[in-house]
Amino acid sequence: MSGSTYNPFEIAQEQFDNVAEILELDSGTRELLRQPMKEIHFTIPVKMDDGSTKVFKAFRIKHNDARGPAKGGIRFHPHETADTVRALSMWMTWKCAVVDIPLGGGKGGVVCDPHNLSKSEQERLCRGYIRQLANQLGPNLDVPAPDVMTNGQHMLWMLDEYEAITGGRYPGMITGKPVGMGGSLGRTEATGFGVIYVLKSYLQEIGLPVASTTASIQGFGNVAEYAARMYTELGGKVIAVSCWNQKDARSYTFKKQGGCDIDELAAIKDSFGSIDKERALALGYELLPGEDWLKQDVDILIPAALENQITPEAVKNLSSQVKIICEAANGPTTPDSDPLIQERGIMLLPDFLCNAGGVTCSYFEQVQCNMNYFWGKDEVLEKLEYAMTKAFHAVYKLAVEKDLYMRNAAYIIAINRVSDAVKLRGWA
Ligand code: GLU
Repeated sequence: MSGSTYNPFEIAQEQFDNVAEILELDSGTRELLRQPMKEIHFTIPVKMDDGSTKVFKAFRIKHNDARGPAKGGIRFHPHETADTVRALSMWMTWKCAVVDIPLGGGKGGVVCDPHNLSKSEQERLCRGYIRQLANQLGPNLDVPAPDVMTNGQHMLWMLDEYEAITGGRYPGMITGKPVGMGGSLGRTEATGFGVIYVLKSYLQEIGLPVASTTASIQGFGNVAEYAARMYTELGGKVIAVSCWNQKDARSYTFKKQGGCDIDELAAIKDSFGSIDKERALALGYELLPGEDWLKQDVDILIPAALENQITPEAVKNLSSQVKIICEAANGPTTPDSDPLIQERGIMLLPDFLCNAGGVTCSYFEQVQCNMNYFWGKDEVLEKLEYAMTKAFHAVYKLAVEKDLYMRNAAYIIAINRVSDAVKLRGWA
């Protein structure tokens, strides 16, 4: 998706193969877990507002459902590919396993640019997606959620179409729904807050107060915004935020040495997370090239956009002040960068642990839908912090005890859980 030569599926397989070797997994389990169990590739014809018909390519891929129904978001992106969705479905399996929720891994995508689609065209696209897939989805089968450039409104159109087809009410069929329509309080904040719960736990371990640290963030979508909000609420200072500018077809880094005001930036961003350049300049932000978020003298880097952003070249140019890379996006670091990060002694908090807050809250949303009883926001966030902190400590303990890179420690815990499920079911 980044237009680079890195293939996310090959990366996900390489990461899996390395850990399968450490775990000495048998060949059958390896073969099963290094690829998706089911893939659906299809097209969606959509009547456009001008009367013409446009046909969109789409995917839903189930990596593994040994631990529970497949779970994972649907992305709308012009550069979506089957391999990206395959990789993301695999990462969902590990993500659900590392936080120990009873769900498997899946992912969906539509090759489209919602910037260029009207609201009613987006609605028809969402309904078309479900019409092609209705018999493959369901609360006990495969449960989608929002992801890059999709939101609660898209989820609700999808649920409505599913319920029209199946003739019942199945709120657990999809998560990330609007509050009051089967959604959970705290779901919007969950992924970003979860990232900071993990970061906070690590900073506590090393005795560094959050308030003494600075960070630079890539992205200003839902995940980045709420990560920035929680981080600044705890006293941290966000020095720079980088995000995409659709009009200029490039990204910019917005910098304020004294620290960015997240409310101020959120007020001048669009629904896709692009900050208005002119208004930011008027507010006194410095405007730098997009990739400059990686060159700042900060303690913490938070990639919260797309995959393959932290390359070996970027690692070489990092400020010597950088101590932590906190991966809020899925797959933001290329595998050839991992050894360099390790060599430099930078702590890497891996993606499928760090950003598991979203799916954990999706699980809470399903639980609340099943009970038809909804918790208050404090209760949701308290349960979320508990789940994220517990998962972090399990991974950190293993990493310290066995002197492992955090990504490998997280993989060992997740892959062990999934391979146990596969064996207990008698699949391998
Ligand atoms: N799209 C989010 C992720 O990548 C959330 C998935 C979900 O809630 O199912 O983790």
